[in-house]
Amino acid sequence: MGDFYQNIVVRDVSAEDAPRLAAKVRDWLVARRIIEPELSDCSLSGLGHRPGPEYALAQEIPSEHVLHLATNGLQIEVGRRVFHNLQPELTCRVCGARFEPGDDYHDAVSTWFEGDDAVSFACPACHVSGRLTDWDGESPWGLSELGFTFWNWSTLSERFIRELSEQLGRRTLIVRDKL
Ligand SMILES: [Zn+2]
Repeated sequence: MGDFYQNIVVRDVSAEDAPRLAAKVRDWLVARRIIEPELSDCSLSGLGHRPGPEYALAQEIPSEHVLHLATNGLQIEVGRRVFHNLQPELTCRVCGARFEPGDDYHDAVSTWFEGDDAVSFACPACHVSGRLTDWDGESPWGLSELGFTFWNWSTLSERFIRELSEQLGRRTLIVRDKL
């Protein structure tokens, strides 16, 4: 069985604001006892926070399964990153086309990663161009200086995601997949 991850990715956050917002959300999650305060070896790519006594507050359907796994942490990721999944699917706001982006998308993502926040990407159907980081869809990628990666937690509830976004005061998007 592979590991499942859900990223709550913060939109429109600057490199300067990311550490402060990361600490704010961590403190809020610790205060609600959704995560343990200390860091431990519980994520696949670094240290994370294990589920706290009230972890179920974050879940759509509470499940204890996550408590029995070695990889079950929340990893708070500060720094420019592409939160990706294997099969992205985007939706054009202008014409409604739904598509799996190709090489031109990957080129734009590379340009963003190198530091160009304003890079644009055009819809393959109607050719209307928009800021790369504004693209959304059924299964988007997240391009951000800040993301919260939950390892093997069952589906996070809409309510929890909304509350966390309110703490941030920013829009968020969700990237989920299985390794
Ligand atoms: Zn379009």
